[in-house]
Amino acid sequence: MNFFKRRFLTAVALLVLAAPLNVFPQVDQYKDFQLIREQAFSKSELREMAVELTDGIGPRLSGSLGFLNSVEWAKDRLQTMGIENARVEPWGEFGNGWQMEKFYIAQTKPYYQPLSAIPQAWTGSTNGLVKSEVVMVNASSKEDLAQYAGKLNGKIVITPYEKDIEVSFEPLASRYTEEDLNRQNEISQVRPDMDPFIRERQREAWSRGLSNTDLIEFCQAEGAIALINNSGTWGVIRTGGSRNGRNLTELGIPVIDMTHEHYGRMVRLIDRGTPVELELEVKNKLVTDNKLIYNVIGEIEGANKKLKDEVVMIGAHIDSWHAGTGGNDNGSGVIVMMEVMRILKQSGVKLDRTVCIALWGAEEQGLHGSRNWVKKYVYDSETDTKGPEYDKISAYYNFDYGTGWVRGIFLQDNLALKPIFEEFLKPVHDLGAKTISTRNPGSSDHMVFNRLGIPGFALIQDRIDYGRGYHTNMDTFDRIQLGDLKQAATVVATLVYQTANYPDKLPRKQM
Ligand SMILES: [Zn+2]
Repeated sequence: MNFFKRRFLTAVALLVLAAPLNVFPQVDQYKDFQLIREQAFSKSELREMAVELTDGIGPRLSGSLGFLNSVEWAKDRLQTMGIENARVEPWGEFGNGWQMEKFYIAQTKPYYQPLSAIPQAWTGSTNGLVKSEVVMVNASSKEDLAQYAGKLNGKIVITPYEKDIEVSFEPLASRYTEEDLNRQNEISQVRPDMDPFIRERQREAWSRGLSNTDLIEFCQAEGAIALINNSGTWGVIRTGGSRNGRNLTELGIPVIDMTHEHYGRMVRLIDRGTPVELELEVKNKLVTDNKLIYNVIGEIEGANKKLKDEVVMIGAHIDSWHAGTGGNDNGSGVIVMMEVMRILKQSGVKLDRTVCIALWGAEEQGLHGSRNWVKKYVYDSETDTKGPEYDKISAYYNFDYGTGWVRGIFLQDNLALKPIFEEFLKPVHDLGAKTISTRNPGSSDHMVFNRLGIPGFALIQDRIDYGRGYHTNMDTFDRIQLGDLKQAATVVATLVYQTANYPDKLPRKQM
């Protein structure tokens, strides 16, 4: 080694020693992660928000009064947190809303028993309190129905749908094991599971070879009082909407979902010739003064002059079904994403890009809120036109898989994101979030971004007891696990922080 080379190396060594922080440039980032955790775990507002949204406001069926109250509540709360431009925005026509005002049902013959049941949304009323015989319609095609002509006037209709319930030895709630998490990447898992609720309905329709709509229309034309449908077990009522509520101008007969244990008894009694009589009163109405879909939007403006026009979006749907109070579908998503905004704002961490929250309306009837927002601002597929936000959105994070810990992320078939998320997840490995799956699960608002190639993420979450509770009368505050949601808010805030400060927008899929 010559003299000059040695002097040069000494100078380099001195420079390195003079700037010791550069050895670990990520220390500053980790200081911010620490601030995020302090906000999430010591100053959490999740409980307060959960009580206000579920117990306070109640069910939030699209277009109902509860839904309208919920969007106003979310806007006000975001404003209180200091979120900028928090606003309620209409994004197009949904149709008439629907409101349940009174409901009672019981078996009166062969003996008195209260029944676990609830009317389906967008179905009608009885003429006050009525009492009538239950008639079983056993038809497997439209032609079969003809034999019941003239026999259903003033009657209550059921079908012979009775299933054997297999005993379950599964735990009531569960977390993913390491093995489960590894399996998230198996190729056989690429296809998302079908919604068990829809699968059940389809099976039922197939077993009858007759659509629900055919049956309802026949009963209505014949003057039946109500149609009763078997849905849910263990006394838990699973419900939905008879015709999804679009563009209805009048309500038909009441269609009532009843739990299997009470429904199956009627089927067996009638089968052996014992008359069954029910007493019921249903009062439902259309809400005709509001036909719009609303979303709630709010922002934290980016601090970097060059990057603040770009956006990292987070979101969850705020509408729910009407049997419960939308605890985990999707109250948990709403309060976690609002809490993420609060954490990012109140921790004071620096965000280069703007972070935007969207609480979508009418997701349950077909992603109407997010689809219309994207159509207006991002891309209109009908006219093949890019909107003003098309080039600005880096990524969209969605929360709609219940109350469990976040265990990782679905990359939605976009492999280029893998090295980025290997880094992004490192600061939350100790919280149990480290799995990266390339799978592309759907069924929620992130899909409207994915279809355009924009990274739209769903999170891998422990299922807890989601499958038993969603769309039922038990989806209330008590099913929300607030401890899990603190972890979830921390993980999402940490991912959003890094996405907002990443040198580039996240890579898109070629479409
Ligand atoms: Zn949902």
